[in-house]
Amino acid sequence: MAKPRSVLFVTPECAPFAHVGGLGDVAAALPAALAREGVDARIVLPRYGSIPTTAMKRHREPLGIPLGGREAWSAVFESKLPGADVPVYFLDHMALFGRDYVYAAPGGVFPRDAVTRAAFLSRGALQLSKHLGWIPDVVHVHDWPAALAPVYLNALESDSASPLARTASVLTIHNLAHQGIFAPESFRETGLSPDLLREDGLAHRGRLDLLQGGLYGATMLTTVSPRYASEIRTFEGGEGLDHVLRFRGADLVGILNGIDDRAWNPATDPFIAARYDARALAGKAACKTALQREMRLAQRTDVPLVGIVTRLTAQKGSDVVARALDRILAEDVQMVVLGSGEVDLEEFFRVRSLLGGDRFRMVRGYDEALSHRIEAGADLFLMPSRFEPCGLNQMYSQRYGTLPVVRATGGLDDTVEQCDERTGEGTGFKLWDLTPDSLAATVAWAVRVYRDEPALFRAMQRRAMQKEFGWEKAAQRYAEVYDWAALRKRGSR
Ligand code: ADP
Repeated sequence: MAKPRSVLFVTPECAPFAHVGGLGDVAAALPAALAREGVDARIVLPRYGSIPTTAMKRHREPLGIPLGGREAWSAVFESKLPGADVPVYFLDHMALFGRDYVYAAPGGVFPRDAVTRAAFLSRGALQLSKHLGWIPDVVHVHDWPAALAPVYLNALESDSASPLARTASVLTIHNLAHQGIFAPESFRETGLSPDLLREDGLAHRGRLDLLQGGLYGATMLTTVSPRYASEIRTFEGGEGLDHVLRFRGADLVGILNGIDDRAWNPATDPFIAARYDARALAGKAACKTALQREMRLAQRTDVPLVGIVTRLTAQKGSDVVARALDRILAEDVQMVVLGSGEVDLEEFFRVRSLLGGDRFRMVRGYDEALSHRIEAGADLFLMPSRFEPCGLNQMYSQRYGTLPVVRATGGLDDTVEQCDERTGEGTGFKLWDLTPDSLAATVAWAVRVYRDEPALFRAMQRRAMQKEFGWEKAAQRYAEVYDWAALRKRGSR
């Protein structure tokens, strides 16, 4: 039996066209890595108002997409993923997507037509492949906005007369906290039979839960780290869907995200003051001095510099960092925070920065270049997330020889090895209890190793920098999942 050779990615985000978080990186990097392995990978996403179409190919025929009680018409634009042989299709519908945001308007309010938008993308992806006469072995859908595609496949395309009858589906959960929960009345917009609005379908506690529909409907499920895959099967980590994930437990696989190891490479990074690698770390000291100068911190080489780059939210444990800040700064350390997010947290750190003398600095906002300079210039990187499906910054940190101090949760636990002072092993420092005491104590431990055991600290830096975080391994794992899904769909397993 031939291995799956064609995959259609259905996604609300894809860098650089539409990029909000980690999903946007995955939806670009994974198809590119699959294409390098010889898979015919293609991507479909909505044409948001912020995406210019002037340089794109426009398909001649419009695409009809049946929705609840009506047919929506879409123009189809086509482009390519930069630097890869991967076609990207954009479904264009001005009334639904001619706005600049991806999920919710500024302020976090979902649009009234959120369900229609999700139905349009999911059903539109299937219509598109029939329209193109290109029938993928697998549709790989991402998060709740695309989670209806497996439901449509099962409900409308399973008849042997449908060209999609043998197409399997894989749903990836990037963050279970986002499920696409809406009023049950909006189910009408999907055009699906009302009997699917049941508790082992699309209804969850009387509301419409789009992600849950996909969790029941997809041939296989994945999430972005093995540890998160087991956490979401528990009451504590299941966000109300742990029973569904236990029910589908045998079909749920955790695959770690890779990182873009060309953009995040201290040996070639154009954003940083000096280049370095695991064999020659002198450049890292120059990066630290440059960062201290830029942040107006005291220019000392002997003081450990702790960096944070984050959304300032409870998910990232930023509130606990705020509560632990005085205790952390009681040590002889310097600290730099780059982030934006919840207003109270922004203000807390801004005020501390103003009053923090030459030891604490906060920069509010989103600044990619500065995030590279912090990764390169810091000695330690703090990321005490409450939950973390995968996380990227702890991987960037290790690549840059900046030892992460993390909470042992989700992808953080999977990608950071605990420091062991007896054996000299490890690539970072982990805490378990998310309390100010535990956080401050773990930072104090890392500071002590930095100061009193420089040979161990240096060995940990080298080991961290030599770890593999690229996409190749992940792409191979996904190819295996596609293989299982295709076999199962065709009834061989
Ligand atoms: P999440 O997707 O939950 O925010 P990840 O760690 O998976 O967390 O990805 C976050 C990405 O966004 C990382 O690449 C991180 O460097 C980047 N990032 C977050 N906040 C900022 C910021 N203020 N400035 C620059 N980059 C940021």
